[in-house]
This record gives sequence, structure tokens and C-alpha cells, in this order.
Amino acid sequence: MKALTFQGKEKITFETVSDPKIESAGDVIIKMTSCAICGSDLHVYHEREKGIDRGTAMGHEFAGEIVETGNSVRKLNIGDRVMSPFTTSCGTCFYCQSGLTCRCVRSQLFGWVEKGHGLHGGQAEYVRVPLAESTLMKIPEGIREEEALLLGDVMSTGFFCARQAEVKETGTYVVVGCGPVGLMAVLGAVNLRARNIIAIDTVPERLAKARDFGATALHALNDPVTDMIRDLTEGRGADGVMEAVGSYQAVRTAIDLVRPGGVVASVGVCNDDHLAFSPVEAYNKNLTYKIGRCPARYMMEQLIPLVQEKKYNIASIFTHRMKLEEGAAGYTVFSGRQDHCLKVLLRN
Ligand code: NAD
Ligand code: ZN
Ligand code: ZN
Repeated sequence: MKALTFQGKEKITFETVSDPKIESAGDVIIKMTSCAICGSDLHVYHEREKGIDRGTAMGHEFAGEIVETGNSVRKLNIGDRVMSPFTTSCGTCFYCQSGLTCRCVRSQLFGWVEKGHGLHGGQAEYVRVPLAESTLMKIPEGIREEEALLLGDVMSTGFFCARQAEVKETGTYVVVGCGPVGLMAVLGAVNLRARNIIAIDTVPERLAKARDFGATALHALNDPVTDMIRDLTEGRGADGVMEAVGSYQAVRTAIDLVRPGGVVASVGVCNDDHLAFSPVEAYNKNLTYKIGRCPARYMMEQLIPLVQEKKYNIASIFTHRMKLEEGAAGYTVFSGRQDHCLKVLLRN
């Protein structure tokens, strides 16, 4: 089969790789029909995150049709159209049972093979999915495939971030970064009925989208962000900040903007060695800092009704639609934010 593979820093190629095979009785093989490129793929692409083997099939946002099932698979059948969270989960361990499916003791991240071990990704013609019955979900009635892709990662992550930030109707909330995840955090906060949401970025069309989704959008460099948030909060600072970038600077901004006793929820993946704030700073702010991977399998189940209701036009964040074989160009356009690119959908 063919897949978009990692071949070194900023080098993705569409290569022939070996076909995935059933390796365990709980596996299924999916014929991928659509997949997306994520900001998390860019950490690999730019080699900010190191360790992945050359030749690994990229990607963790995908949907498709089951073409083969392992011997123990009962609840899924050949021909089922399915969506997937970005990690696998067993459904029975302590973490799965408590809703932290991303920390399942048998969890694997799609698109991560290191020293020959791991799981190839979804930007490929076929994908092997272990623990398939507890990882995959049949795409429910009324959900389009591109919406299913967003449920599997960025929508779940944005809504998780808003939940982590303890967003309420009253109060002032800030979203740092208006990429796909930050924009979904804006919607997550809207959905929790927040009246005062401020979104920060430097890319005009992303700020425009944040405004569309219900936030007041501020330019990180050109607007006096700190003063404006102080003005809105009688000098206190934001009640909650959602950080959806994954950089020292973005976490620093979040810490500067939050009020004493407020919450910073970080979903951005930051590959630095140290946090952007000191223990004494956290102490002096009575800070609550929450960070980590989204339990997408758990969140997607909860968000299905909202997507079926078509309450928000989530699929409007897809600005570019291409064929899988054009995916390398998709990486260039998305990483360079060329041509107003916000998110790339690839069809097989
Ligand atoms: P993206 O790269 O498309 O978006 C990041 C946005 O942040 C861009 O619009 C950029 O202009 C903006 N930005 C950069 N520096 C900024 C700053 N200092 N202040 C304000 N804005 C700034 O990425 P994405 O797909 O939206 O993902 C965002 C982050 O979330 C990534 O780090 C990704 O790895 C992470 N992520 C985490 C999870 C999780 O489970 N925790 C899941 C998905 C993605
Ligand atoms: Zn992703
Ligand atoms: Zn588990």
C-alpha cells in the first residue's frame, strides 16, 4: 500500500510500505477513506519531537471502512464505517473506566513507531487498529466523515481544554492560539455558556474564525492584550486560560494573563525541558495548572449528540481538501500557513 511517511526533518513522502496485517485477535484493518493533518503532526515534521523511525506512516486523525477483522472481534464487522480517537484504549483498565482513556495501560499513539515498535498512522491507504472494539466507534447517523475526524482529536481536545479550564457562564476566559485546537476550545467555552471569551493569535484569518465562533479576537503582538484583560476584570486577570499552542511563550502568556486562584489548562504539546513558570510564581498566584493529552475516546462519545445536532459548524475549519497522494504538499501548506490554510483534509 501507499502512505505518507516520515523521512526526516520537514520531509514527508508518499511511499510504498508493507500492507498492515492482523497481528492480534482484537485487531481490525481499515481502508482509510479520509484523514487530516494535525498541529501535532507538525511537531514530528519539524523534528521538535524526536525518536520516530524514518518510514513511519504519519497521522492519527482518520476514518474509514473495516475490511478485515481479527478472530476475537464480535462487535465490529467488515463494511462498518468507523471513526477513531488518536490513541488506542482497552476499555477495561483503571484509566479507561475512569474516563482517562488517553492513559490506558495498553494505549498506543497512531503514527508513532520508534526503534521498530509502535503503531503506524492513519495517513495511509490501510490502517491496523489494535483493541479495535474499545478504540473505534461506528460513525453514528447524522455525522459526516469530516466531522468524525474532528471528533477523533481536535474537537475533543478543544472541548476537553474548556472543561479543564473550569469555564462557567460568568467570568473571563482566554484561549491562547487559534489553530484548529484553539478554535475548538473557543467553541467548547461557548458550549459551556461563557459570555466573555478572548482568543489570541497573530494570524488574521484564524482570528476572524475565532470571532465567527463567538470570541473577542486579539492580535498577540499588535493589541495590548494584558491591559485589555485587566480592564475587563477590574485588574484581576482571566479566571481561566486555555493554552492551545505548545510553546514556552504561549504558556508564559497564559500564566501572565490568569488571575490569582485561576486555572491554566494546557493542551499544547511543549517539548521544552522546563515549565515556563517558577514554583514561587505558581505559589504566589495560587495557580491551578492542568496539562496533558486529551482522552479523546471518552470525549468523542460525549460530543456525538452535539455534532448530530449541528449546533456548530465545526467542519468549516477545513480549508484545504486534497488527495492522500498530494499529502506532502498538504504538510508544506499547513506548516507554512500558506494560502490561509487552517486544516487539511486528505481523501483516499
Ligand atoms: P496549529 O499549529 O495549527 O495552531 C497553533 C496556533 O497557535 C497557530 O495559529 C499560531 O499562530 C498560534 N500561536 C503560536 N504561538 C503563539 C503565541 N505565543 N500566542 C498566541 N498564539 C500563538 O496547531 P493545532 O492543531 O491547533 O494544535 C495546537 C497544539 O495542540 C499543538 O501543540 C498540538 O500538538 C496540541 N494538541 C494536543 C492534544 C492533546 O491531547 N493535548 C491534541 C491535539 C493537539
Ligand atoms: Zn491530532
Ligand atoms: Zn485501558
